[in-house]
Amino acid sequence: MKTRNTIVIHKACIHLGSFEPEGVLELVAPNADPLILWLHGVKTKINMVSLRLQCFKRSTVCVGCGRVGTIISLDKFRAKSRIPSTHFGLYSEEPDGRYVMMTKDHIVPKSKGGAKLWIGNLQTMCEVCNAKKGNKLEGEPDATR
Ligand SMILES: [Zn+2]
Repeated sequence: MKTRNTIVIHKACIHLGSFEPEGVLELVAPNADPLILWLHGVKTKINMVSLRLQCFKRSTVCVGCGRVGTIISLDKFRAKSRIPSTHFGLYSEEPDGRYVMMTKDHIVPKSKGGAKLWIGNLQTMCEVCNAKKGNKLEGEPDATR
């Protein structure tokens, strides 16, 4: 995998390294073995079958705004986090130097009966568009207005 020098830090995570998306995403598959990395002398297994990564493998482009995920960050959730694990995240690099996290969006929201664990109900969306969409269906009016 080709590494990058850029530092990406998400507040819930400790940043461990940056990679070009292609090199990481080509290792993602529904039956892929975990990736074994030695990080500071600790053997670390990284899940390469996650639906989130499979979603990014299909597309690194936000369906809402066209923002493109251009960097993969290897992050370790902080000890107090709900999910104490090391995983890959996809980020878009903004012109002003900020990073926007890319997420997997449920096309039909879970709260409306959408399948949680089916890749067919997932699409890549940046965190900005995902926050705007909330639990609405695409095109559904915002109930708060
Ligand atoms: Zn977006």
